[in-house]
Amino acid sequence: MSAPNRYTQQNPNSMPDRPNGTESNKQVAYLCGDCGVSSVLSLNDPVRCKECGHRVMYKPRTHRIVQFEAR
Ligand SMILES: [Zn+2]
Repeated sequence: MSAPNRYTQQNPNSMPDRPNGTESNKQVAYLCGDCGVSSVLSLNDPVRCKECGHRVMYKPRTHRIVQFEAR
C-alpha cells in the first residue's frame, strides 16, 4: 500500500473551505454580542442569536460586527 495522498491539502486554518462569501448555504458560526453564545447560522438565515435574540453577532474569525436591521 503505497498510495500517496496527494489530494490532502495542508490547510493551516483547518477549514475545508474558505469563507469568501461566494457560496450560499454555508453555515458560519457567530458569537453573540450580548450573551457571547456562539450560534451556527446559515447565510440565508437572519443573523440573530438563538439564545437571547440579539441581532449583533460577531464573526469569530474576522472579528467584524455583522449587524442586520430588523425589518
Ligand atoms: Zn445572545
